Amino acid sequence: MYGLKSKHLQNKYISMSNLRFDAIQNLSNGAQNVLGYGDQKITSFFGSNVFTGKVAREYLSDEAYKSLMNSIKTGSKIDRKMAEQIANGMKAWAMEKGVSHFSHWFQPLTGGTAEKHDSFFTLKGDGTPLEIFDGDALTQQEPDASSFPNGGIRATFEARGYTAWDPTSPAFILETATGKTMCIPTIFISYSGESLDTKTPLLKALDLVTKASLDVCHYFDKNISRVAPTLGWEQEYFVIEESMANARPDLLATGRTLYGHTPAKGQQLDDHYFGAIPERVFAYMQDFEQEAYKLGIPLRTRHNEVAPSQFECAPIFEEVNIAVDHNSLLMDVMNRVAKRHKLKVLVHEKPFAGVNGSGKHNNWSLATDTGINLLAPGKTPRTNLMFLTFFVNVLKAVHDHADLLRASIASSNNDHRLGANEAPPAIISVFVGKYLTDVLNEVEERVTGKFTEQDEVILKMDIHKNIPELLMDNTDRNRTSPFAFTGNKFEFRAVGSSANCAWPMTILNTIMADTLINFKKEVDALIEKGEKKEIALLHIIRKYITESKNICFEGDNYSEAWAQEAAKRGLNNFKDTPRALDVFGKEKTKDLFKNHGIFTHIETEARHEIMLEEYVKKVQIEARLMGYLASNSILPPSIQYQNTLIENVKGLKEIGLNPESYRSQIEIIEVISKHINGVSDNVEKMIEERKKANEIESMHERAVAYCDKVKPYFDTIRYHADKLELIVDDKLWALPKYREMLFLR
Ligand code: ADP
Ligand code: MG
Repeated sequence: MYGLKSKHLQNKYISMSNLRFDAIQNLSNGAQNVLGYGDQKITSFFGSNVFTGKVAREYLSDEAYKSLMNSIKTGSKIDRKMAEQIANGMKAWAMEKGVSHFSHWFQPLTGGTAEKHDSFFTLKGDGTPLEIFDGDALTQQEPDASSFPNGGIRATFEARGYTAWDPTSPAFILETATGKTMCIPTIFISYSGESLDTKTPLLKALDLVTKASLDVCHYFDKNISRVAPTLGWEQEYFVIEESMANARPDLLATGRTLYGHTPAKGQQLDDHYFGAIPERVFAYMQDFEQEAYKLGIPLRTRHNEVAPSQFECAPIFEEVNIAVDHNSLLMDVMNRVAKRHKLKVLVHEKPFAGVNGSGKHNNWSLATDTGINLLAPGKTPRTNLMFLTFFVNVLKAVHDHADLLRASIASSNNDHRLGANEAPPAIISVFVGKYLTDVLNEVEERVTGKFTEQDEVILKMDIHKNIPELLMDNTDRNRTSPFAFTGNKFEFRAVGSSANCAWPMTILNTIMADTLINFKKEVDALIEKGEKKEIALLHIIRKYITESKNICFEGDNYSEAWAQEAAKRGLNNFKDTPRALDVFGKEKTKDLFKNHGIFTHIETEARHEIMLEEYVKKVQIEARLMGYLASNSILPPSIQYQNTLIENVKGLKEIGLNPESYRSQIEIIEVISKHINGVSDNVEKMIEERKKANEIESMHERAVAYCDKVKPYFDTIRYHADKLELIVDDKLWALPKYREMLFLR
């Protein structure tokens, strides 16, 4: 069946293998002459493509400016007349910068960003050409929604979708080689008001936590008038040669390599981390950083990561909504700029098996308009108690909603990374650090419930004094925890590198708000009973410490011992996406979202469906590619090599040598046959399972079938294919190998 007699097969194989060798040959030809920053200071062009407050001041009337600023601060509506004026100002600014088109920019549930460009240009009734951007064009558009995921919402309602302006995220100009477009950040909703994007629920959750935090702040400080959650993400990514990526259909179609033997020189040597950044990558970084700066994305750090060809960048933290938009935008920019450098950027969570995957740590905190970081220990007893209040509320939120937090980071990509000894496990826990653990224990032990002097003593504990020194000491940093306190913020480390931060941020801020709202109710109830405010606070804090204790874990999260301990504690360990998503089917979850106005039940159900469907689609595509590559790229060179050996054995036999002299060749021929059968038999079986899975009506059951029945074949097929890669003549192998892709210089 697999003889290379077929001309067709032979040709196909030859063209593939050429791609690999072309790529190797062209390795350094893609280097670009990039000038870096030259003499330019970053401050001289930072935000130059953004309609900032300063620009608004310049281009808008007093009235329009005030209306815009007020809307940003308080969420107040901008009326039609003002929208008209603001649109005019934006147009004037954009046209001075050579912009010809505008676009509503939104983040549908595909994981990416979407734009639909319209020209300013129009014709009046009498044929006069004119450039127009009116209030309506700014505030609302109706993109063709039919191509975006909706989880069945549109089937039951109306096919139309609307984008609506989000004034809290500034408009920006996207520059590409062929033109400039002014982008207006928007939400994307259905005709009947259901959200079809990541931003709509995020804005609701942010609003919610802002209000809930402010209410709790007022126990301590009446001067605070606004609280905003902050986010500083850290983006990990791989960079490889574009031509290499082009010779890997699996990378192009799925973002990860489905085949490939781990190289001998992997990250074992650990020489990549903080080593010198390869020059080509450095040029690329400088290039995308410049674009990012123009877009107002405040990038701060860049460095090598643990794995070969893996890197990281991180900005200064910002308010969550802006930070989320900036991350989505940056991922697009990184993609685009890579092309100019003939490079390919990979943001998949696990592009290479056996090599560290990529995450996107979400550093999160709450900041007041008076300049206080609510998760930074205070200097005085009063601010200490405020810190302790917010800190303990985070513990309680994570404890009570751990499954939801786990679900917020679930994706087929992230399944490859979580628990793979390089990333936190799928068990949610919080790292508190030694000093604060002691503080929590002390509060728990000493606050007696009898309201004695002890309580007063606790209030006077100087938490602040001891913490900074402890943070200097890196041993108090646990790099294995999925959710770690790092001195003045929490770091949610389990988020995947390709994820849109909006979703984990929506969940985190919703559960925090929910917890704070309940906290306030409990404290108020005690105060109403006549308790002193501080005492009431301490007692509910103590209660929350006790109730949340078993979510705290200080040890090695990667260890088997923790998995066992967690099971004993009753903490869940959802290892795959379909199961992790089950929480969205629970009444408790649906009510949580509904009660806080984040999602109606229908919307929660739709999200659940969309995420399951995405899972199915991704595994389905991988399964197809797995089969395709097996028959097109793995088996042909294996068979060809085997044929060469067969010819060789035949020849040796013909000239009369005894079988001992071609014993090795025979053995290799047999091993190749074994692995060829291993690949093709399992591909057949996988296809059978896929067919069965596709017939399952329920999306949940279908996802489970893909997870339990289809996916396990990936490892078996790959095992045999990777063995073939090791045996087959290197000259014949079609797919670029790990060592060729990963050691870019
Ligand atoms: P690390 O040692 O992990 O690099 P850093 O203090 O440099 O720690 O911060 C890492 C990330 O945390 C950065 O992206 C930074 O912007 C972010 N960060 C710092 N403070 C806050 C905060 N208060 N809220 C949100 N993110 C923050
Ligand atoms: Mg970090």
